[in-house]
Amino acid sequence: MQPTGSPSRPLAVILLIQLFLSLPASTSAKESPATLINIRHHAYPDHTRIVFDVNQPTNYKTARLPGLQTLSIHLPNMILGEIFQKDRIITVKSGFLKTIEIRQEEAAINVMLTFKNRYFYKISSISDPDRLVIDAFPSNPALKKGDLTPAISKNPPVYSIRTIVIDPGHGGDDPGTIGKSGLTEKAVVLDVSRRLKDLVVRKLKKEVLMTREKDFFLSLEERTLLANGRKADLFISVHANAHPKRSMQGIEIYLLGVATDEQAIATAARENATADGNEVNFQEMILSDLEKEYNLNASLELAHLTEKAFIEKLGRKYATVSLGVKRAPFYVLAKTNMPAILAEISFLSNPLEERRLKNRQYRQRIAEALYTGIDQYIRSSKKKS
Ligand SMILES: [Zn+2]
Repeated sequence: MQPTGSPSRPLAVILLIQLFLSLPASTSAKESPATLINIRHHAYPDHTRIVFDVNQPTNYKTARLPGLQTLSIHLPNMILGEIFQKDRIITVKSGFLKTIEIRQEEAAINVMLTFKNRYFYKISSISDPDRLVIDAFPSNPALKKGDLTPAISKNPPVYSIRTIVIDPGHGGDDPGTIGKSGLTEKAVVLDVSRRLKDLVVRKLKKEVLMTREKDFFLSLEERTLLANGRKADLFISVHANAHPKRSMQGIEIYLLGVATDEQAIATAARENATADGNEVNFQEMILSDLEKEYNLNASLELAHLTEKAFIEKLGRKYATVSLGVKRAPFYVLAKTNMPAILAEISFLSNPLEERRLKNRQYRQRIAEALYTGIDQYIRSSKKKS
């Protein structure tokens, strides 16, 4: 089935916004210039790590350059260490990083990392000793250079689906929503996820990775790094909903986007607020990965098929209301590099749905609805290839 909508933001606008997007380090730069002592890089099987050793905490700004294979990192108030007096262009012989170009520009340093193909990245400022760490991952190789036209958004690339990540929300110290009877979201979604895994492995013969198989805490970042690191093809996050109005009930299927109603804003805010206190920059989340443009259409299709499956599998027996396919800036949807949805499988704040969620058959139906969404999505992908 063709998706009914398409990402509306033109690529040029995204690029423009990205050029002005800055990510300040937690500590501000001091008066005296910092020194870039060394740049190290290492190719891992699935990504390349580049480390800038510096002598004090530093600010930085990143920008993706047009052409999409180069990342520019601007380091204000910094001078080059002795090691760079001779070589300012480093050619890398392994991994997918091609060159590192270093330029002293008045009081600042500009470093350009050029990769062999398109990439997504994560940058963090770390202390003891002070350094900037950049992890760069190759984008899906199925996407070729010519795909970078807005027109391609209407026809998402066809991925062969081998690995599916199932992400039961919360866990450990983070119970998620707690129903009036004491039923926790973390327990319900783990059980549903296990049932879903069983169906996908048994019936679809696909590899399934669970972000957690047991009751332990896992940060949102760890969840997305697992999915990206293992180059998963689909990401399904499973949650249970909550609302101050106890009469509120039904299912919601989310994909990444700007939240369009108050319920979506509140839901994303609640699911993003993890026990590790990770602050989320919504603007950065939506704009940081150009690759998202490709995945969004696929996510939209998966979301619609899953919602339809919920209405058929669950709605028939339980008269469940669908609150629809919605968009909101969920961390796990923003940071995963593959089609991704988040299902709010019922309201734990609603007494009737809490009672149902305690029931094994109801949980099994939910797992079957999620499974059917995945199955239909894979069938529809095959038709297009
Ligand atoms: Zn949740």
